[in-house]
Amino acid sequence: MKYAERMNNLGTETAFEVLQRIQTLPEKRRKNIISFSIGEPDFDTPEHIKQAGIKAIQDNYTHYTPSAGISELRVAVADVVSKTKDISVSYENIVILPSGKYVIDLAILSCTNPGDEIIYPNPGYPIYESLINVHGCKAVAAQLWESEEWNYNIDELRELITEKTRMIIINSPQNPTGSVLNQQNLEALAEIALQNDIWILSDEIYSNLTYDNLNYVSIASHPDMLERTIILDGFSKFFAMTGWRLGYAIVNVQLAEYMERWATNTISCTATFTQKAGISAMVEDKSPSIAMVKEFERRRDLIHQRLNEINGISAVKPKGAFYIFANVSEACKRLGLKDSIEFQEYLLEKADVVVLSRNYFGRRSPEERDHYVRFSYCVSHDSIVEGMDRIEKLLL
Ligand code: PMP
Repeated sequence: MKYAERMNNLGTETAFEVLQRIQTLPEKRRKNIISFSIGEPDFDTPEHIKQAGIKAIQDNYTHYTPSAGISELRVAVADVVSKTKDISVSYENIVILPSGKYVIDLAILSCTNPGDEIIYPNPGYPIYESLINVHGCKAVAAQLWESEEWNYNIDELRELITEKTRMIIINSPQNPTGSVLNQQNLEALAEIALQNDIWILSDEIYSNLTYDNLNYVSIASHPDMLERTIILDGFSKFFAMTGWRLGYAIVNVQLAEYMERWATNTISCTATFTQKAGISAMVEDKSPSIAMVKEFERRRDLIHQRLNEINGISAVKPKGAFYIFANVSEACKRLGLKDSIEFQEYLLEKADVVVLSRNYFGRRSPEERDHYVRFSYCVSHDSIVEGMDRIEKLLL
């Protein structure tokens, strides 16, 4: 059979390969594994949200809804994000979709043409590059630097802009580094976008997971940026609802209509009872989520401190999300390992500890001298302690 040529360009989240590999290990070993690889909260969806979903099914909210979502949910999202993101939007700016991820797809489909250049973060979430490529655009990697607390070097960023640049994808708080883009970065990005008539796709899926009382600033709140910013957000992380599949785009009204039309052509709508649960999440008690974030902050403090105490490992303190990106160059040297892939392998073989190599988050650029691995701290306090003890022993 013949398949589409574009299939050669469709990437994947290779991190799932690691999870599959763990599944094939003998049960005894599997039970001993401490995995810092999972990118979803180890908390359950808060009870009142679950009950709202159950009630919605019982009340027969099991039919289609409008493609852009139930009005009540669009209004609720608009009200909440107008406060939390310091922007002024109404329900017409909100498109409810079955994931945050789908916003990336629809943004590229609606705002770019094949051959256009799209700048994406590196290291970064691998789906950006995959979707850019599959839609026939050119993926241009913008390097984030450890020396800049995982922000961009603005001069380097400017050099990437050409006449063909149509979109810049940013992600803050960021996967895999946990960094938050600083004010200088955001101002420069806004200026570049305005000067060159470029879209910004701002992936804010972790925006409610920030620490140290950080005041989260969306690039959309910068002057004149709302119209050209596509905000990706959703319920997966803050409300621990990854399996419900519920996300949204915050966009200008024209783009909302285009995205709605895509939804009509592809999915018809997002699951109705899931949307009803989403209303409960938006308007009711947020204290379980706030408590979860507090717990993530405690874990972040712990893992950051422990990693930096280990010989040969250092890590910038993350400001958000639930990841920490550790520099393991020195550790590799001491253990006689070539790179972060070998380091990942070594931890699994010698300590039953799972981390993800930098290579799962885009291509290592030639100027990048150091080796990194991502730790997710979606595991208990005790597991963090045990995992750190095991790694520490290897590097005494
Ligand atoms: N963006 C980033 C950076 C992510 O890490 C994830 C989830 N791993 C998503 C988007 C997608 O989230 P959702 O579950 O809403 O599709």
